[in-house]
Amino acid sequence: MAVELDPQLLEILACPCDDHAPLIVGTPDDAQADVLTCTSCARRFPVVDGIPVLLLDEALDQQGGD
Ligand SMILES: [Zn+2]
Repeated sequence: MAVELDPQLLEILACPCDDHAPLIVGTPDDAQADVLTCTSCARRFPVVDGIPVLLLDEALDQQGGD
């Protein structure tokens, strides 16, 4: 199921990484994924019950393979 966020909310959300870069819904490979992906560091943040968890500790790194 795709993440459905208010576009205005998505606009004000930013990655907690040093770049504070914008986020996209899903991943570049899977727009239906229940995550937000940083456009700078490519960290992926889970969305739990519609609430993005924008914590570096909770980020799903690209490393380790899928
Ligand atoms: Zn980032």
